[in-house]
Amino acid sequence: MSNLELEQLREKVDAVNLQILSLINERASVIQEIGKAKEKQGVNRYDPLRERHMLNLLKENNAGPLDQKTVDHIFKEIFKSALDMQEEDIRKALLVSRKKKAEDTIININGEQVGAGDPSFIFGPCAVESQEQVMKVAEAIGGKGLKMIRGGAYKPRTSPYDFQGLGLEGLKMLKKAADQYNLAVVSEIVTPSHLEAALDYVDVVQVGARNMQNFELLKAVGSINKPVLLKRGMSATVDEFIHAAEYIIASGNENIILCERGIRTYEKATRNTLDISAVPILKQETHLPVFVDVTHSTGRRDLLLPAAKAAIAIGADGVMAEVHPDPAVALSDAQQQMDIGQFDEYYDALMKFMKQYEMKM
Ligand code: PEP
Ligand code: MN
Repeated sequence: MSNLELEQLREKVDAVNLQILSLINERASVIQEIGKAKEKQGVNRYDPLRERHMLNLLKENNAGPLDQKTVDHIFKEIFKSALDMQEEDIRKALLVSRKKKAEDTIININGEQVGAGDPSFIFGPCAVESQEQVMKVAEAIGGKGLKMIRGGAYKPRTSPYDFQGLGLEGLKMLKKAADQYNLAVVSEIVTPSHLEAALDYVDVVQVGARNMQNFELLKAVGSINKPVLLKRGMSATVDEFIHAAEYIIASGNENIILCERGIRTYEKATRNTLDISAVPILKQETHLPVFVDVTHSTGRRDLLLPAAKAAIAIGADGVMAEVHPDPAVALSDAQQQMDIGQFDEYYDALMKFMKQYEMKM
């Protein structure tokens, strides 16, 4: 074969490539139309029977020289690319996504603009244990001019024999302490049936890691008019986390704070593995404020400060950490809570760090 002939065949291949390109793009446009029609009808986009029908039709008409396995492989990839494209459309359509709303969601909590650029802080004990205990912590938090206090009254414990929290009585104690120091109450609710009564005492409803995919709870907190702090499930992917938030917003509540609290990995040096890169991913993908819980992620007092620095440096809108007047006798998470003195040092060090790098507060 002469060089000229080879050149001509190559030109032919180039031309066929361009035809294929144009045809698969034409196919993609048709698929987009079908996607829109299916969306209107509320029909599932992936239809295995339809795919089987298309593959059969190709088999009946395959005159070669490509064998059927190869043809199937190529077309399955083409089918998949169309589905991926539709999935991208669905993602675009998520109410929590940046693509849907470019501006940051800013949540006013007790006068503090959460998500507006300056880091916010949520401190408080793991669990409410007594009036005196929460009063001491509230005094320390209020003394710093901070606006929120946390404390669990319904504790989702691994063992049913461990302290389960004081329930509504605990919420009343926390609210009393919060009122005294002008703080908003952040507390976890574990079931929709507790929600109504709790709302008299709670300003920000926390949905804990273990309940991130409790869809009935997500829908219930989606129908209230108070902010929700949604924690990432300990084995949840970022995508699952985003979809959990979508349940809340789809029920009508846009005031959602996402909270990265570490995920379960093989690593045992920390209680969970703080997935720090989830913060900028969540900031890019959604318009919601993102917090980092340094206590439950690291599970180590010595890591609370470096983890908080990392969180702020990477763009988190806030940090959560646990503070207890006497952690050694705490009824839950005794190893990782700060006492008041440690809290003072911690907060000072964090403020110094932020000033040093001109991060606003
Ligand atoms: C908590 O914040 O009190 C808590 C139980 O955390 P998580 O749900 O992240 O384990
Ligand atoms: Mn805890």
